[in-house]
Order: sequence, then C-alpha cells, then structure tokens
Amino acid sequence: MATCARRCSRAIWSSPSVPATSGRSARNSSPGLRSASRVDRRLLDELAHRCRGELLRDEPLWRHTSWQVGGPAAVLFRPANHVDLVKAVRLIDAAGCPRLVIGGGSNLLVRDGGFPGVVLELPDFNVVRIAGDGLVEAEAGVRLNSLIKQLVAAGLGGLEALAGIPGSVGGALVMNAGAGSQEFGRVVEAVEILSGETFAWRPAAELAFAYRHARLAPGDIVTAVRLRLVPGDPELLQAAYAERIGHRRQAHAVGGPSAGSVFKNPPGQKAWELIAGCGWQGRSIGGARVSERHANFIINAGGAMAADIEALIEAIRSDVERQTGVRLEAEVRIVGAPAATGPGCEGA
Ligand SMILES: Cc1cc2nc3c(=O)[nH]c(=O)nc-3n(C[C@H](O)[C@H](O)[C@H](O)COP(=O)(O)OP(=O)(O)OC[C@H]3O[C@@H](n4cnc5c(N)ncnc54)[C@H](O)[C@@H]3O)c2cc1C
Repeated sequence: MATCARRCSRAIWSSPSVPATSGRSARNSSPGLRSASRVDRRLLDELAHRCRGELLRDEPLWRHTSWQVGGPAAVLFRPANHVDLVKAVRLIDAAGCPRLVIGGGSNLLVRDGGFPGVVLELPDFNVVRIAGDGLVEAEAGVRLNSLIKQLVAAGLGGLEALAGIPGSVGGALVMNAGAGSQEFGRVVEAVEILSGETFAWRPAAELAFAYRHARLAPGDIVTAVRLRLVPGDPELLQAAYAERIGHRRQAHAVGGPSAGSVFKNPPGQKAWELIAGCGWQGRSIGGARVSERHANFIINAGGAMAADIEALIEAIRSDVERQTGVRLEAEVRIVGAPAATGPGCEGA
C-alpha cells in the first residue's frame, strides 16, 4: 500500500465540486457533463499506476481558462516530475490518444465539447534558479509574474514590461508574450523541450521568435527556459514593475473574464482600431461581448459558452475583412470539440 502511494498517481475519479469563488454561471456547470473520451480504460489504468502525479477525470476546463468557458478534459494529468512526464507522454502516444499541454489557460478557447484526450498541466515544474551574470533558469510551470517579481528583486531587467501578464513561463515562451518594447523571446538563450521521448536544450535561434510566435513542432512540450537578463538598478526596475501593474489593473478592467487580445495586430495596424472602426464595440453573441473599453478584448459577460465566443470571433473577422479588406489572425488558440458533435479536436 505504501509503495503504491509513492509510485502511483493520485487519481481523483470524479471532479471536485465547483469552487464557491468561481464566477461560473449555471449554464456551463452541469455536473453530469462528460467528455467524448478517447482515453480507454487501459491507458487510464496505466497512467494511474505507472506515473506519479495527479490525475483527474472529466475535469471541467472552464476552471483552467481565463475566459472561464470550455467543456471537460477526458483526463487531466499533472506529472510529478520529468520522468513521470515522459512516461505519461509515451503511454498517451502509444495509445494514439490526443494530448494538449496547457499553462495558465489565458490565451486559450476550449470548445464546449471539451478535450477528448489527456490535458497535461505542469504546476510541479516550478523551480527558478538565478545564477550570476544575469543567467536564469525557470521551469515551464512557474507563473510568469512570479518569475518577473523574482527577477526585479534580484536587480535583473528585460521582462519588467510584461509584469501582470497572466499565465505560465511555458505559455509565455510558446506565445512569445510581449508588452511595450519587450518580448519574452528576446531574453531567451535556450529552451528545454520534450520532443517525442527526448528532452533537449535547444538554442533560441531554432525557435525563430516573431510577434506572438515561436517555432515548435506539434507535440513539443516546453519544460524549462534559460534566460539572459540585464543587471539594472533594483529601485528603477521595481518602479517600472509597479507602473506596469498599475497600468494593467486599469487596462484589464474590461468588464469580465477575457483572454487578453483576441486578434494579432496586422502589420502596421492595430486590431482594436479596425474592430472599433467597424462598429463592434459592445456587440454580443449570447454571453460573449466585445469589451466597451478595449475593442480587441472579448469578455464573458455572464454565462457565455465557448461557441458564443467563437461565433463572435468569426463574425468580427468576416465583417472586418468585408469592410476593410484586412483579414485578422487570431492570437488566441482554439482547441477541443464543439459541444454537439463529439470527438474531433485541434491542438492534439
Ligand atoms: C487579461 C489578459 C491580459 C493579457 N495581456 C497580454 C499581453 O499584454 N501580452 C501578451 O503577449 N499576452 C497577453 N495575454 C495573453 C496570455 O496571457 C499570454 O499569451 C500568455 O503568455 C499565455 O500563457 P498561458 O500559460 O496562459 O498559456 P495557455 O493559454 O495555457 O496556452 C497557450 C498556448 O501555449 C501552449 N502551451 C502552454 N504551455 C506549454 C508548454 N509548457 N509546452 C508546450 N506548449 C504549451 C498551449 O497548448 C497553447 O497552445 C493576456 C491575457 C489576459 C487574460
């Protein structure tokens, strides 16, 4: 028994109840909701018995996304460490089951049918090592803002403009998160990636960072980053950090849960100006509404379904193209299956 407790996943076979603090409406919180699972019994048993970590079945993904929408993951697994992550990936891939890594879910629209495979979260990949010379290693599950706070306290500059951006270090790397004149990719020296069954450090140049883009192969999992920061005056860095947090507190008060900017800025243009110019501010589909304060933010105004948000994204995209000739590209990633149609997912 003791051996099993050490070796096995902590399996939670039914989802815990909705937290009292959740802003979730009754519309999406049906306790009977089940994913259209592609995780068979054997894979489930193997994950539970051969990999250490935490395993949840039919876990509602709205709890894991900043929009607070989305159906359940057939399985959500949080590996205890690198060994358990690679074991889990081997089992999942051998079973031909789709998988998806998520960080803070702050750039993610999960459809109402949920994700039929295994969603991986990396909260135990949470170590930050600050060495001399501005060299820092951070694991993928570290909260981006927690990392930035530690850098500022250590007198290291280069990411303070990103203060207050939600999500994880892994997500910031994949999205090449940015604000003001700073971008995450600019301070990256190397990235530890699990590709297939092998971990390797890859130099930043291989990731070809661009605006909200890093080049990764499908299925690659970022487990850590090595950063090169610039030593600076801790007081000035602290002031810049505080200024950004204050600014974001105002800028992010958009009236409801969001995923930040929905569309990328087209070259030389601002997505919000195009959207506002086409008259979309304040318009809604179901519970999804274009923010009055920031036209490139779609908010969950209460009881939104993922389908409402996706429909609004598509309506804006086609109308802006019709009116201006500019086709907007989504910055948010859309994954999972629509509610009625069962399995069939992107992002696996
Ligand atoms: C209020 C608000 C404000 C925002 N402001 C900004 C801003 O100023 N600038 C900006 O750039 N963004 C902004 N964002 C968007 C978002 O916070 C960033 O894109 C963030 O970096 C995403 O990180 P995440 O961990 O939440 O990623 P997630 O949303 O969880 O995932 C994003 C993508 O990365 C993949 N992924 C995540 N972790 C890993 C991993 N370890 N390995 C492989 N793939 C992985 C996921 O599969 C998904 O495709 C904002 C969002 C909100 C809600």
